Amino acid sequence: MIEKVLIANRGEIALRIHRACKELGLSTVAVHSTADANALHVRLADESVCIGPPASKDSYLNIPAIISAAEITGANAIHPGYGFLSENARFAEIVEAHNIRFIGPTAEHIRVMGDKIAAKAAMRKVGVPLVPGSDGPVTTLEEAKTAAEKIGYPVIVKAAAGGGGRGMKVARTADDIGSAWSTARAEAAAAFGDDAVYLEKYLTKPRHIEVQIFGDAHGNAVQLGERDCSLQRRHQKVLEEALSPALSQAERDRIGGIARKAVAELGYLGAGTIEFLYENGEFYFIEMNTRIQVEHPVTEQVTRLDLIREQISIASGAKLSFSQDTVMFRGHAIECRINAESPTDFRPSPGTITYFHAPGGPGVRFDSAIYSGYAIPPYYDSMIGKLIVFGDTRDLCIKRLRRALSELAIAGVETTTPLFARLIEEPAFQAGDYHIHWLEDWLKRTSA
Ligand code: ADP
Repeated sequence: MIEKVLIANRGEIALRIHRACKELGLSTVAVHSTADANALHVRLADESVCIGPPASKDSYLNIPAIISAAEITGANAIHPGYGFLSENARFAEIVEAHNIRFIGPTAEHIRVMGDKIAAKAAMRKVGVPLVPGSDGPVTTLEEAKTAAEKIGYPVIVKAAAGGGGRGMKVARTADDIGSAWSTARAEAAAAFGDDAVYLEKYLTKPRHIEVQIFGDAHGNAVQLGERDCSLQRRHQKVLEEALSPALSQAERDRIGGIARKAVAELGYLGAGTIEFLYENGEFYFIEMNTRIQVEHPVTEQVTRLDLIREQISIASGAKLSFSQDTVMFRGHAIECRINAESPTDFRPSPGTITYFHAPGGPGVRFDSAIYSGYAIPPYYDSMIGKLIVFGDTRDLCIKRLRRALSELAIAGVETTTPLFARLIEEPAFQAGDYHIHWLEDWLKRTSA
């Protein structure tokens, strides 16, 4: 039985995990860097342990310090959240080797899905449609050229170890392939310590559609519908919705069915997301994330389920608390990622929050770990909150978003709030008519 959970993360997700634990009657242990001594998750957790200096590699990525913290406090499970060590197969193995439950999938599934080339091969085997591309790594420029000719330009060179939108370069014609190949490789080597790259057809106007899935240790596999995460900047998600305004019920059933079958055949354990690009009525697998995602709340709102609670209960050996037949989708939900950044040039804006007021009222949820007087450290991701709205219709969500954005007050630092206030007035957004490049085009078009 899981009794005490060490939360190996920070910010809003650490708080979100703490909240789920409390509702399950579990004790929590926060770990933190010296820069996060005053963080909310540290203040609220039952116990806390400082695991190192500010740099992530010395604290939130410091495996020996985290394991020691678990041992000292007697935590018998670790929730890794997202980012940091959440998709590190070695970490999952080390945790389990210390007789501590890793709240996530098996190390083997993390390893396979963490290598995008291996992930594509595994998905092909279970009948999932893929983006056409090189069927393996391209190790020489000659191979890259041959593969690109075969696929047809434009192509995208992607890092096998990629994540966070890094290590991706587009080649529009044969003239660009040399530079795309070498810059993607160099970026991949610098960011991930692994320069393996592969090629895919570059889709010009797809949507990013991802399916939330769960598997348990008793052979059950369930899909919780899709999220549309097409509004992106630099391949990073900015606003997400559930369900997608672009899919018909038949398409929804088709992609949900494909995802669920894959989970069942892989024997996958815990929460995961299967990501697809969707263009001209076709779905193409791009990657699988073997962890909870930032945007999980929109799925929680339309399914009325607690996904973190479910992760913990599956890790403790329980059966899924729902079956496919009992999953119901109600209404619509939209999430805006509020970053401490300039809303015009996106430069990070760390500093002290001098005043904070969270929006509330019907259909509004604000997942955040900020408070008045909180100093945002400059060392980590700039996301400081997630504004989630939900209601019976997408139209009502947009109205609630307009109201909630006007109620949200954060002073002392710049935030991306004004960007969303502007975005939701855009007719194309209101019509749900956008694709993965739309936001960047719109930003270029509308910035003075
Ligand atoms: P990461 O792991 O870095 O997030 P993904 O493979 O999930 O990388 O891709 C992130 C985003 O990059 C996608 O949502 C999409 O916007 C873009 N992208 C990835 N592959 C392609 C492709 N073949 N064609 C067009 N855009 C792509």
